Amino acid sequence: MTAPIPFLDLLTPHIELKEHLLKAVEEAICKGAFIGGPAVSGFEAEFARYTESEHCVGVGSGTDALRFAFIAAGIGAGDVVITVSNTFIATTEAISQAGARPVFVDIDQATYTMDPAALAEYVETRCLRDASGCLIERARGLRVAAVVPVHLYGQMADMDPILEIAQRYGLAVFEDACQAHGAKYYSRAQERWLAAGSVGLAAAFSFYPGKNLGACGEAGAITTNDAELAKRMRILRDHGQSEKYYHDVEGWNGRLDALQAAILSIKLKRLPAWTEQRRNAAARYRELFTDAGFPHLVPYECDSSNAVYHLYVIRVQDREKLIQHLASEGIGTGIHYPIPLHLQKAYRDMNVPAGSLPVSERVAPEIVSLPMFPQITAEQQERVVCTVVQFLRATTRTLAMATA
Ligand SMILES: *Cc1c(COP(=O)(O)O)cnc(C)c1O
Repeated sequence: MTAPIPFLDLLTPHIELKEHLLKAVEEAICKGAFIGGPAVSGFEAEFARYTESEHCVGVGSGTDALRFAFIAAGIGAGDVVITVSNTFIATTEAISQAGARPVFVDIDQATYTMDPAALAEYVETRCLRDASGCLIERARGLRVAAVVPVHLYGQMADMDPILEIAQRYGLAVFEDACQAHGAKYYSRAQERWLAAGSVGLAAAFSFYPGKNLGACGEAGAITTNDAELAKRMRILRDHGQSEKYYHDVEGWNGRLDALQAAILSIKLKRLPAWTEQRRNAAARYRELFTDAGFPHLVPYECDSSNAVYHLYVIRVQDREKLIQHLASEGIGTGIHYPIPLHLQKAYRDMNVPAGSLPVSERVAPEIVSLPMFPQITAEQQERVVCTVVQFLRATTRTLAMATA
């Protein structure tokens, strides 16, 4: 039996860095420095630089990052926040936990990220402007405050038209960059490459272990170019304190701890190399699928995009059977995500009926995430592609026989 191929390899990078990581733990223990301090401010400065942002606020998770960004920007009860349904539930949990209501627009079928035309349609057909110029959702009379494009699978959403619509209608833009550390987007409007995390009013990053930059535990960060907003987010993450035991507001326990910050600093140095390895692996998958006669399986990366391949997602009709077949050959897969949020039990009372978001609903039962991690080898990728192709050829043959 050949060795199994994991969907994600969390062991190799940690074994490679073991000495450095253990030293960071030892240092924290010897100094007794666990919360805040130079490890946290140091990582924040490095990550701000990496994302080409002016400020970075380390927090406890990507969910904290989104929630604090909304609250600090004054988004809350009575507000609507527009996002997509094909994302991890943390995007909408944070909107709801800030007191606002999420509303979904459809995605583009090639990139799986927010379709700017769907966003335009929502604001133009479902909303109106009140006397003060505020965008109001007609059905509920609520203020439409913000839009949250999700840079899904490592590729940035089509930001030029989204920014243009947001500006025209006075919406704040928050990037959910939890899957897109280091991704870039070429803005034709600004004639330059923009880094994920530097584009909106604020952006959320997750350092959950499986993300492109992962902690050895839970962690997250917010990036922004707005100093006032950064200050408010620092207060929110630390029980609303502007000074120890002086609470300006009620806040949260949402800090980035010193140990995770030290670990993240070590790993951040490796991130550019890891990203290049992911991009090389994606190029190799493209070549292998194309040579095998299945170029249509290759995920679409626009010219204006420099994706960091957090996930490598293909679309097939017989998804469950393909997953079983790959599993029987020892190959791990994932599904991101099997059920669009508007059809989840948790959102039953939103009353968004099936059929409302046709693209999100069409792709959800067909997407499969193949093994993707920086250390994946050419041999492993060849085996993955061979196994996928073998399955697809066999099923097409069965189909042809059934219709003959
Ligand atoms: C991982 C993720 C989050 C949440 O991050 P946590 O650190 O797990 O809270 C939010 N949005 C997206 C798109 C994610 O992939």
